[in-house]
Amino acid sequence: MHRILFLFLTVFFIASAEAAEVRSPEEYLGFPIGADRKLADYNEVMGYLDELAAGSPWVETETIGTTTLGRPFIMAVLSTPDNLSNLSRYKEISRKLADPRGLPAGEAEQLIKEGKTFVLITCNLHSTEIASAQAALELAYEIASGENDMARNALEETVLFLIPSLNPDGLQMVVDWYEKWVGTEYEGCEMPWLYHHYVGHDNNRDWFMVNLAETRAVFEVYFDTVIPHVVLDMHQMWSTGARLFLPQFYPPANVNVDPILYREIGLLGYAMQLECEERDLAGVISDAYFTAYWEGTSMMTPWWHNQVGLLSEAASCRVATPVYIDEVELEGGSKGFPRYEHRINFPNPWPGGWWRLRDIVDYELAIADGLLDCCARHNERFLRNFYAMGARAVAQGKNEPPYGFVIPAPQDDPVTAARMIEALMLGGVEVHEAVKDFMIGNRLYRAGSYVIRLDQPYRAYAKDLLEVQEYPDIRASEKEDFVRPYDVTGWTLPMQMGIACEEIDEPFEAELRLLENYPYAEHALPRENENIWGFALDPRINASYAAAFALLENGHTVLRADEELALGEDALPAGALLVQSRKGLTDDARALSRDLHAIFHPVTGESAAAARRLKPVKTALFKPWRASMDEGWTRYLFDTHLVPYENVTNEQIKEGEIGDYDALVLADISPDIIKKGEWTGEYARFSRPMPPDYEGGIEDEGVENIKKFVAGGGTLICFGRSCDFAIEALELPVRNVLEKAGPDDFYAPGSILEVAFREGHPVTYGMAGKGHVFFTNSPAFATSLPFGKFDRSILAAYEKKNPLASGLLIGPERLYRRAALVEMTYDRGKVLLFGFRPQHRCQTAGTYKLIFNALLESGRK
Ligand SMILES: [Zn+2]
Repeated sequence: MHRILFLFLTVFFIASAEAAEVRSPEEYLGFPIGADRKLADYNEVMGYLDELAAGSPWVETETIGTTTLGRPFIMAVLSTPDNLSNLSRYKEISRKLADPRGLPAGEAEQLIKEGKTFVLITCNLHSTEIASAQAALELAYEIASGENDMARNALEETVLFLIPSLNPDGLQMVVDWYEKWVGTEYEGCEMPWLYHHYVGHDNNRDWFMVNLAETRAVFEVYFDTVIPHVVLDMHQMWSTGARLFLPQFYPPANVNVDPILYREIGLLGYAMQLECEERDLAGVISDAYFTAYWEGTSMMTPWWHNQVGLLSEAASCRVATPVYIDEVELEGGSKGFPRYEHRINFPNPWPGGWWRLRDIVDYELAIADGLLDCCARHNERFLRNFYAMGARAVAQGKNEPPYGFVIPAPQDDPVTAARMIEALMLGGVEVHEAVKDFMIGNRLYRAGSYVIRLDQPYRAYAKDLLEVQEYPDIRASEKEDFVRPYDVTGWTLPMQMGIACEEIDEPFEAELRLLENYPYAEHALPRENENIWGFALDPRINASYAAAFALLENGHTVLRADEELALGEDALPAGALLVQSRKGLTDDARALSRDLHAIFHPVTGESAAAARRLKPVKTALFKPWRASMDEGWTRYLFDTHLVPYENVTNEQIKEGEIGDYDALVLADISPDIIKKGEWTGEYARFSRPMPPDYEGGIEDEGVENIKKFVAGGGTLICFGRSCDFAIEALELPVRNVLEKAGPDDFYAPGSILEVAFREGHPVTYGMAGKGHVFFTNSPAFATSLPFGKFDRSILAAYEKKNPLASGLLIGPERLYRRAALVEMTYDRGKVLLFGFRPQHRCQTAGTYKLIFNALLESGRK
């Protein structure tokens, strides 16, 4: 091409790209962003961002995964056209700075000068907190169209990654539901199902176990494909407090987080507050409400990875419906904000009045600008600190205890151990496998043990997840009570998952190989021959139960050995699951071995002779219209472990349609929701009427039908609070000893406790004699001697004077010598009372077996 012509065309092209006309959100949607009662749904969010990307060189979009219900999960990337064309180089710089090993300070300094701060803004994780998903479109438009100089200037030094919804399925559900009722008396009412298919609001409690498709996709962005330096997650809170919370957070803080990181959180939090004040946006609070201690949320996980994580929480209107708040309805009553009044952390009180979706959008646009601006001004500083924190972590792991953790071989449940390692590796943690036996002090570890060395950049993350938590006793003054936790206090993964894991407090040497893949072992299926009767599955392994459920469902003959089962030199403990050879078994077993990592051992007819046959189990899982996250997690557990089940509603229980089931499962649901469909306690005043089809609970008729179900031979399985329902409804001779205890007498808000399991009972098959359970506002039981139609077996009890293993426990003496898990027989049926949370957030893999056993052993015999 002629040179001049080429130049001309290039200039023309750039000029036309610069002047590219992009439609505003209003032109695209037909209404302005934040208009009363108007919402963009997920299809519109995607469509609009794609249109901007096509029309502007400042915007790109990409798909980062697929949601639980199969939608594309999208992210926009915004920066100057120059920066976007060099994005792969900037990503390479971020990756290099994340791991200072082998990157000398001089070389790092070059990269710091060249690099750009990566800012990730995530919206709408909680689907009803919907303003941010709308604001994201306006922010992207302002940048694309050149209307926003502040953001455009900041993007010279930064790249903005913008996820318009962290839960696209939920955004779509909430908009559909809102639009169904807008203009009626139910406008803005609660949805009768969870806004994440499985877990609703708990989608912000999954950020170390990484169960959900959405969490997994964002983990890749966090720790692999992007590695942002600053993350801001936009939420909304209740309506009657401050208008907006921004960091700094409230105590306690977590000792494993680098102090520089907490200072950077403060810097950026205050920069965003300043931007709000300059725009005269009143009612912004900091240093209140939200604590800085625990693991599990989307914006906190980055902290243990040397990445800044920030939270914004705006006051809510009613989805897109404005609310009027009288001055006297404004209230404090929270951490750092006891009364609604002028304070140093709240210097510009909002006076009350109308509060609309558009107001929230305005605050969110202000903080996005303030954040980008501050990041740009401190670009090199953020990158330098990011590198320095990583270097400090490596040095700490080299020079001070703990030096590492060992997951010794062999493990009772090697598949679950591999799942724990998978969670760590998804979080960027390096895990090694011992190539040879090795010694630490006098302790011999076998080859095949896994080792987590702590001289790695994400030391804090590995350490925080593997060690024991001690909740800090922080007080405003010596006269005051300690600061109560916001959420759980103990999350030690090996305890929750039933994995042996040892902290190493002295320097050690071992011949190690870095794991590149998750360490699920491949077990070749033994070749069938005339000597093989079938296969046995180890009752200590969760995957064995999943295989048994699937095989029963496929019509195979599955049996249970109530005695130890000899396997050549070896043996399986009581409770082994056996499956008899027949046509098609090999294919099914091979698939289960591949997909679930189930391990099949060949057995002879002789060893199978004493086993008893199991029946397929028909399971009903109660699903209230006041949606229950614990019910959702139970569904997740069942779906991932191939437990066949059907949801049953209030109506079905009222109509007596449960007689055909073997088991009825009540997740952790308050008795008032089960019986009446009503919230009680602290959330009762936020509760609003449901549309007629979703009102009420199982009512008296439902209670009678559950009684009949159990008396007739059914098994009722209750977790946590639903035990109180069963005790009352069936008048069981058992008492919840914690029922009347106040928070000063007894308090265990998400703690891990040690219990003794009664061995030799089918429900405890596969469990060790001692183990850990997850306890959160749970009951504990005093039982009485059998009488009439009642009998009882105590299957787990608190035998230590203080059973606390990780987290916080006030009043341990109230648990001492009390029962944690009870099986009551009631006429021909039985009731299992779980005084703990056996499938809590699907993190407690160590107690799943109790549920699987209860199901396999349920029903009419
Ligand atoms: Zn939220």
